[in-house]
Amino acid sequence: MHYLEREPLAPYTAWRIGGPARYFVHATRADDVRTALAWAEQHGIAVFVLGGGSNVLIGDAGFDGLVIRFRAHNIRLDAHGDEARVIVEAGAPMAGTARRLARQGWAGLEWAEGLPGTVGGALYGNAGCYGGDIASSLDRAWLLVNGDVAEWPVERFGFAYRTSALKAAAGDREARPSQPVVLSAAFRLYRDDLTALARRMERTSVERRSKTPWGATCGSVFKNPPGDSAGRLIEASGLKGARIGGAEIAHKHANYIVNLGGASSSDVLRLIDLARERVLAEFNIALELEVQIVESLPVAGDTRR
Ligand SMILES: Cc1cc2nc3c(=O)[nH]c(=O)nc-3n(C[C@H](O)[C@H](O)[C@H](O)COP(=O)(O)OP(=O)(O)OC[C@H]3O[C@@H](n4cnc5c(N)ncnc54)[C@H](O)[C@@H]3O)c2cc1C
Repeated sequence: MHYLEREPLAPYTAWRIGGPARYFVHATRADDVRTALAWAEQHGIAVFVLGGGSNVLIGDAGFDGLVIRFRAHNIRLDAHGDEARVIVEAGAPMAGTARRLARQGWAGLEWAEGLPGTVGGALYGNAGCYGGDIASSLDRAWLLVNGDVAEWPVERFGFAYRTSALKAAAGDREARPSQPVVLSAAFRLYRDDLTALARRMERTSVERRSKTPWGATCGSVFKNPPGDSAGRLIEASGLKGARIGGAEIAHKHANYIVNLGGASSSDVLRLIDLARERVLAEFNIALELEVQIVESLPVAGDTRR
């Protein structure tokens, strides 16, 4: 295990924003995660598990602890006639996994076409889109909890709109000493016609591309309030195109904030505050964050920010 020091985190995030990690390690196997967690505990430092970095805003000060980037991505398929169960390691890409299975004629995850990020990150936030989500596709998962592997059936996750028991326990702003880590997940699949499946995924891909602003973003910044859309509310508050520093509320979709180049975390946070204040003032609706904010004290001795 090679622990990097003061590793810049921005390149590991979809927003391309964030200061360095005091320590950083690539975990390519489940055992690496266990070793890294024990190492962090030994050194008395906080841990943050990073997947694809597509739903996090890392603070400008970075993370004063160990960031574990989980990349294990093995897949095992157990097929019984027209049904199957696939067990995927949590570092596997959601979209890539869905595509790979679809090419073999297995449906059930095709909604995830084009969804950035890993299986672990998707479970954490109950990712969903285009008629599907993790809650309705997952069978069970295996997590590392206090050094032991625990098997959680889907019910144990307490999934709700863009949240899970894991996310609810952490809250929006997290810099915590330890957290349960998803190691692998089992999804239910069924046989489908190859051409029909490919066509459905192509439709999703085209629609997704047409709606997604160009540039470095993290997807939806806020959750949609019941019966409404955060993008509509922010747009109706006159904030499309609002800019702070290098960050902009996207013209194409007001629930996206784009890093135009050189945006800092505090630029994005100020836009988040602005959107929240305006929507509250105009519509009396308190927007709730979908993205995870990872903030901690400046990394000691850091000169590379
Ligand atoms: C252009 C764009 C479009 C998007 N569209 C959608 C969409 O349509 N629907 C949707 O739901 N989301 C969407 N997102 C958000 C994002 O893709 C999802 O939230 C994704 O599931 C995050 O996965 P990740 O691996 O990148 O997680 P990260 O951003 O790396 O981490 C997110 C959280 O998950 C935790 N985590 C990561 N891996 C593990 C693990 N193995 N065990 C425990 N915790 C873990 C992290 O600690 C962190 O708290 C979009 C993002 C982008 C950039």
